[in-house]
Order: sequence, then C-alpha cells, then structure tokens
Amino acid sequence: MADFDFADIAPPLTPDYALLEANKCLFCHDAPCTLACPTHIDVPAFIKKIATGNLRGSARVILEPNPFGHSCARACPVEVLCEGACVLNDRDEQPIKIALLQRHATDYVLERKLKLFQAGKPTGKKVAIVGAGPAGLSCARDLRRAGHAVTVFEAKPLPGGLSTYGIAEYKLKADVALAEVQDILDLGVELKLGVMIESLGPLLEEYDAVFVGVGLGRTKSLGIPGEELEGVVDALTFIEHLKTHPYHETRVGKRVLVIGAGNTAIDAVTQAKRLGAEESTIVYRRGEDDMPCYDYEYELAKRDGCAFRFHALPKRIVGNGRVEGLEVETSDKKCETIPCDMIIVAIGQGPRGEFVVPQGNPRVFVGGDCANGGAEIVNAAAEGVAVARRIHELLGRSHG
Ligand SMILES: Cc1cc2nc3c(=O)[nH]c(=O)nc-3n(C[C@H](O)[C@H](O)[C@H](O)COP(=O)(O)OP(=O)(O)OC[C@H]3O[C@@H](n4cnc5c(N)ncnc54)[C@H](O)[C@@H]3O)c2cc1C
Ligand code: SF4
Repeated sequence: MADFDFADIAPPLTPDYALLEANKCLFCHDAPCTLACPTHIDVPAFIKKIATGNLRGSARVILEPNPFGHSCARACPVEVLCEGACVLNDRDEQPIKIALLQRHATDYVLERKLKLFQAGKPTGKKVAIVGAGPAGLSCARDLRRAGHAVTVFEAKPLPGGLSTYGIAEYKLKADVALAEVQDILDLGVELKLGVMIESLGPLLEEYDAVFVGVGLGRTKSLGIPGEELEGVVDALTFIEHLKTHPYHETRVGKRVLVIGAGNTAIDAVTQAKRLGAEESTIVYRRGEDDMPCYDYEYELAKRDGCAFRFHALPKRIVGNGRVEGLEVETSDKKCETIPCDMIIVAIGQGPRGEFVVPQGNPRVFVGGDCANGGAEIVNAAAEGVAVARRIHELLGRSHG
C-alpha cells in the first residue's frame, strides 16, 4: 500500500553500478574485510568475479562459507563488520559497498534458482537439528553436502527463525528469507514444522548426533504494574505480526512508546512509525551515549522522525483496561506520565527454557544465539557451519 514505506533502505545496485563499484576495490592481499566477516568470506575474490562478469562464481565464493549470504547481504551490520574494516575508510573515502555487491551476486543465483551445491553420497548417519534458524539450517546444509541424513525440528509454522520472523521489513522481507531457506531444504533436508522439542533424550536414541540451534526466548518483561493492559505488546510479537501479515492488519497506536534502546527497540520504533504512528518514541532509562544500539540504527530512527526520551525509568503503565500512559521517574527523581495508546516492550530476549541441554555429551552440539547470547545472522551461520564440520569429524567420513 502506498502509505506504508517498507521499501528496501538499501536498494539493489544496477549492473553498471555494480561493475563500477567492483572495480573500485583494491583487492587487498591481507583483506581486513575478510577478517572482519565472522564467516570469513573471501571478499576480494567475490568482488573480482563480479568485475569479470562471473556472478555465479561470485555467489559461490560467498555462499560456500556462509549459507545465509543472501540474508546477510541485506541485514549485516556492515559498518561494524566488513565495510567498517575497508582500507578506504583510512583515506577518508567511502568504503566499498561490500553488502550491496554481495546482494548483487547472490540475488542473481537466487532469482534464477541456480543450484550451487549438491548433497553428498549417503553416509548412513543421521543428525537431528532443533531449530530451523540460520544456525540450524547452516549446519543442515553442510551436513547434507557431506552426505548425512538431516531432520530439522521447528516449533514455528515457517522455517528461517528470526531471518523470516524478526529482521526489519525494510531490510529483509520474509519471502526472500524463505527463498534462501528453500534453497537449503532442496538439498534433501527433512523439515518437521510445528514440532516443539521438549527433551533431547528421544532424539539421542534415534540420531547419531544432535545440534541445538533454538535461539533466544521471549522478550523479557518489565516487571512493573500495568503490563497486562491492552495495547502493551512485546517487540518480537509486534515485528513478527508485521512481517507475516498485510501491513494494514498490524495494529499500531497513534502515540507509541518503545521501551528499550537496543537494535530491536530501534527496529520497533521505526516500523511503528512506518506503519502510521503519529508519534513513535524511544523511552530509555539511561542517556544517549549509553544506548546499546548501533550508531547508524540510531541515525535511521532520527531520520524516520522518531523521538527519544532519555533518563526516563518506567515505573508503572497506567490505563483503564487499555494503556493510556507510562509513568516514568526522571533523572531529578520526579514522576511524570507520558501519554500514549501503545507500548512496545523491547528490553531484550531471555534464554530458552524448554529443555536442558546435557553437558559433556559428545553427540550434542550447540550454536547460534542460544550459545553466543544473541548476535547476528552472520554469527549464527558461522557457528552452524563450524559445528557441521565437527559433527562430520565425529561421524568419521570425508566431505562429499
Ligand atoms: C528484532 C530482531 C532484529 C534483528 N535484526 C538483525 C539484523 O538486522 N541483522 C542481523 O544480522 N541479525 C539481526 N537479528 C539477530 C538475528 O536474527 C539472530 O542472531 C539469528 O536469527 C540467530 O539465529 P539462530 O538460528 O541462532 O536463532 P533463531 O533465528 O532464533 O532461530 C531459532 C529457531 O529455533 C526454533 N525453536 C526454538 N525452540 C525450539 C524447540 N524447543 N523445538 C523446535 N524449535 C525450536 C525457533 O522457533 C526458531 O525458529 C535480529 C534479531 C531480532 C530479535
Ligand atoms: S556476510 Fe556480512 S560481514 Fe560478511 S562480508 Fe558479507 S556483508 Fe560483510
């Protein structure tokens, strides 16, 4: 709909622009961009292939170490990763647009459904993966390439984890995330959707190894009175609804307060604004310099016209059945009620508590957000790939 601006904030490069940009790369020998990328994509190599018109080869260089290279091209915080490390920054020039070049090459293969990887010769070994997020599916892809049978158990109705359900709509849309997932599933991964695993015991009886990539749990609650009022939602529920429904079906208030100042809070405040909130405001108990979000995310929220209330500690949500305001304590210890008709809670996710991962069992592996405490898609992909290698070593076969 014309009223909702969820167009890509970083639109794709035209073929001519991509060539021009690729030819600006200095192809550094000890490429700092490659070192800064958690999956260590050989950035100069894939850019060189773009410069010579070999987009398929370029995509292979990207996707070999990073099965989520399509999502990462749209969602990676490149300012603090590859592009932040580009040597051109030291010359006060713009860094090479690595993510957009990565998108140029990976879109080429995704849109044409080109198959770059094959399943390996069957080894007769079976691996169970709990969670179809970037960690679990990255692990699944490389296990299939090595010839192991893989079954992925996923609690949600769709695969992809937060790459499908969580990334801001103006960065990555669910259908693109799902196309990338399908590419991995096409290697012969068995996917069981809508299955919540509650214990690893039965899986350990049936499978040779188990990978746990369950991500983080629900958004933490504030623990203040009034959280049960209508109009108070948690950030993940709000974003998930937006990403899986036509835009007009996601309810948004006129005056929205988002509690928290991390990247998820920024995603919530900007998306509330883009859904039509007249005022969309971050409420944060500390100061501007303490905000945990990336600087460029903060800049984006300011550009979107979002407002910020610093040094405001939430004490109570007020309302009569429905939320009407948020009582906060200001830095001079005064109480003030900020009027609103919607509150989005974005103070971080808690750990998953569905089951206990047995410690010290050599057939159980863990990776992604549930192991690293919450990072980015690229970290989950890197860990999934690394664990696939370890499982393959355990199962004792050479790579197919
Ligand atoms: C709002 C938000 C915005 C983000 N934005 C970005 C961004 O812009 N760029 C970026 O790179 N990263 C971003 N991230 C982080 C990124 O999405 C995660 O780091 C990444 O998805 C982690 O992958 P994962 O596979 O470890 O976990 P997840 O993606 O969480 O996947 C775990 C999967 O396991 C399933 N599961 C859980 N328990 C069970 C069970 N018991 N049985 C079966 N299935 C189960 C879940 O349903 C889920 O599908 C964002 C995160 C959030 C919350
Ligand atoms: S995966 Fe992310 S960090 Fe790595 S090179 Fe690509 S855009 Fe940069």
